[in-house]
Amino acid sequence: QYPREEILGKPYTFWAHPDFVDILSDELGKRERGGGSTYEALYHRKDGSEFWARVTAVSLVDGEGNYQGSIGCLSDITEEKKLADEMHRLYEFNEKLIQGASVWINVTDTEGKITLWNEEAKKISGYSQHEVLGDSKIWEWLYPDPEYREGIQHQQQVFAKMGDSRRIDTTIRTKEGNEKVIAWYGTSLLDVNGQGSGWMAVGHDVTQRRRDEERLQVYANTLNAMSKEKDRFMSTAAHELRTPLTIIQGFADLLIKRDDLDAEQRTKIEGIKSQSKRLDTLITSLLDISRIEEGKSALVLEQIDLAATLNKVITELTPRLERKGQKLNYSSHPALVYADEMAVQQILTNLLDNAISYTPAGGKITVRTEAMAVSVQVEICDTGIGITPEAQRSIFIRFYRAPQAKQIKPYGNGLGLPIVKRLLEEMHGSILVKSTGEGQGSSFSITLPVDRAHAFGTVPLFSGERSD
Ligand code: ADP
Repeated sequence: QYPREEILGKPYTFWAHPDFVDILSDELGKRERGGGSTYEALYHRKDGSEFWARVTAVSLVDGEGNYQGSIGCLSDITEEKKLADEMHRLYEFNEKLIQGASVWINVTDTEGKITLWNEEAKKISGYSQHEVLGDSKIWEWLYPDPEYREGIQHQQQVFAKMGDSRRIDTTIRTKEGNEKVIAWYGTSLLDVNGQGSGWMAVGHDVTQRRRDEERLQVYANTLNAMSKEKDRFMSTAAHELRTPLTIIQGFADLLIKRDDLDAEQRTKIEGIKSQSKRLDTLITSLLDISRIEEGKSALVLEQIDLAATLNKVITELTPRLERKGQKLNYSSHPALVYADEMAVQQILTNLLDNAISYTPAGGKITVRTEAMAVSVQVEICDTGIGITPEAQRSIFIRFYRAPQAKQIKPYGNGLGLPIVKRLLEEMHGSILVKSTGEGQGSSFSITLPVDRAHAFGTVPLFSGERSD
């Protein structure tokens, strides 16, 4: 802002910021000694505002080498300085963030030399910044086994070249000689030309988590083994009980036929027969469930007419329905499903039998079938005692019976629904229970696949195409 006439003849330093007067004098001294000089300094404009300038100057000498003056070139670098300050602040902020982060962060250049190593990296590995910076020795310390180390480094190089990121878990040896498992997220760093310039890795110490997981896995394996052992025991016990039970039933059948029995004796033998029958049902259920769980259910999956099976089941249960004065609503539609006929019969009998048992005399039971895109649904609704939300979570667990159900049907065994569920799973079907609560009735919906392709998922659902 100074016009020429105001500047000419003034000392060289007159418009410099007071802090820079000495520096400027030094620089002038360099020129007088015949050298050039480049420096940055703060100046005042005429209106008092400040600006940063970069000055480049050269000396002028005469033919004998005597200093005659100098030519200086000055450019305003205030914006550039601001940007540099901003970058510096950003850098310091990043540095603090990285150093204070509660994860291990390190950066390596393309040769694997460490260019950044944060506090957490030191805490986990035991190696400090000054031991590792500018060197690649750390990899040998962390991964002493050459084969393991090379494997990791090779993978990293491949990913770095592709400019990619990856997750990996490695086991390191710390400075104290302990082994630690680190879960890494690594990403390659690219320069302005898009070339790989290094690799940044962020790691968590997951040693304890891994140990806990391993311990849990051991518990889970033990529990599984114990559960299998228990199932085997149950299945063997059921088998062993069957023979003596058949003999008892045989003797009871013989005894009841005698004509010299008095009324009391007859009642007692009837008692033996009905209790044996109960035991027989329990053994059959136990053997059924063991067979399914051991994968020996030997179901024969084929196209069957669901309506025909349903009609058969309803016909068989009609006498019971009538005895309880219950009304059944059912409209039959032909519907083909891909399933085992005996299993479907067992499932429907079980669900309908439950509906009859858990619905008071005079209640209503509705059976609906609906053909869906890739499956057929059968819904069995009743107006019975209903199932509380807590009980709904447990009814598919072996031997579970809701307290109210026990009062209504004392001789149930809580195995019907678990068998139903497992059979449906075997046939790629499903079951869903709905009930708004006690006294509100219940509804059980089952689905079965329409054909083999949909049972085994070889056709995308809802594609509208069938492979057959
Ligand atoms: P069980 O009928 O021998 O008890 P299930 O496995 O068939 O065994 O049923 C388990 C439990 O589910 C029953 O004890 C009862 O609490 C509940 N439950 C099943 N079906 C119904 C239903 N239709 N209405 C109310 N509760 C039901």
